[in-house]
Amino acid sequence: MKTFTCTCGNTLYFENTHCVQCERKLGFLPDVLTVSALERVGEDEWLALAPEAEGGHYRCCRHYTDQDACNWMVPVDDPEPYCTACRLNQVIPNLDKPGNRALWIRIEQRKRRLIYDLRRHRLPVFPKTTHPNTGLAFAFLESNPGPEDIQPEFSDDHQGNQIMTGHADGLITINLAEADDVERERMRVQMNEQQRTLLGHFRHESGHYYWDRLVANGPLINRVRELFGDERMDYGSALDNYYNQGARPDWQDHYVSAYASVHPWEDWAECWAHLLQITDTLETAVAIGLAPPRAMDSDMDVRIRYWIELAVKINLLNRSLDQPDPYPFLLSPPVVEKLKLVEQVIRDSGFTP
Ligand SMILES: [Zn+2]
Ligand SMILES: [Zn+2]
Ligand SMILES: [Zn+2]
Repeated sequence: MKTFTCTCGNTLYFENTHCVQCERKLGFLPDVLTVSALERVGEDEWLALAPEAEGGHYRCCRHYTDQDACNWMVPVDDPEPYCTACRLNQVIPNLDKPGNRALWIRIEQRKRRLIYDLRRHRLPVFPKTTHPNTGLAFAFLESNPGPEDIQPEFSDDHQGNQIMTGHADGLITINLAEADDVERERMRVQMNEQQRTLLGHFRHESGHYYWDRLVANGPLINRVRELFGDERMDYGSALDNYYNQGARPDWQDHYVSAYASVHPWEDWAECWAHLLQITDTLETAVAIGLAPPRAMDSDMDVRIRYWIELAVKINLLNRSLDQPDPYPFLLSPPVVEKLKLVEQVIRDSGFTP
C-alpha cells in the first residue's frame, strides 16, 4: 500500500478520514486510487484537492455519511449512493445486534483494502448487480447457533445456520466471526493453521473468483494444470481426504500452506493470496523507506528476493516485540514458480467482464 500526501504536506494513510495536521476531511477516490483532502462546496458535495482528481467533485459514500464505516467517495455525476466497494455488498449483518457493527466495520476495512489490491493489479472489479454472470458480490453473515435446548441427537437436522467463509459463482461470503480476534485465533489453532487473518480470507476467496474469470477458459489453463494439478479431480473427496488424513508429510516442499495441498483450486487461491500479500507489503515497505523502489521490479525473481529479505526482517522485529512471526512461510522453488504463474495470469489477463 502506498502512502498519500495531504495538500498541507502531511503524510496520509489509506484508512484516514481526517488530516491530523490541517484537520481537513479526507476521502479515498476510487477512480484515481488516491486519498484526497476535501473542501466542502455543497450540502454533500466536496471538491477533491489531490492533483490526481483534477478538480473533481465528489459525494461521500452513504456508509461514510450514515455509518462512519467507509471513507470512499463517489463522483458527483454517479447516481449510486454507495462507493464502488460498498455497492458490492449483497448482505451485511444485522447492525442492531450488539457487537455486530464493530465487527462489520473491520470487515469493510479489509474489503476496501482487497479492492485496492485488485485495482492496483489492474484487475477490473464489476458488481454482480450490473454483471449478474461475471460480477463480484459480498455477503457478510453471522452464524446462527440455533436454539440451545435442541437434543444433540437431532443436531444434524436442527443445528442453526452455520456460515462458511467461501466463494461460489462470484459471491464471496465471510463469516462475521472472522472479524472477532478471539474467535479467529480459536479457529486458527483448531485448524492448525500458520496464519489466519481477515484480509487473508478476502485475498484467498478473490483467488477463487479470478480463477473462474481468468484461468478456467484462459490461454494459460494447461500451464496452470502443469504446476497446480488438474482441478477436474473431485473437490469434495479431496477435502474429505484432507480433513481425515491431514496434509501429506512433505507438503512444505510443494505447497505454500498445508491447506493449499487440498486441491488445485485451493493451491491456486493460496498462491493468489500470497502474491497479493507480498505485493502489498513490498509496496508499503517501499513507501516508508524500508525497501528500495527496485523491490517492486516487474521481474518476479527480483521481487521475491526482496520479499524474502523483508519477511525475515519483519519476523525478527516481531520476535523482539514478543509477537508471532507475521510471515511464517517458506517459499520453496515449486511455490516460487506458482507465484510467478499467478503474476503472469494477472499481467496477461486482458480481462473483460
Ligand atoms: Zn492536511
Ligand atoms: Zn463505501
Ligand atoms: Zn478456498
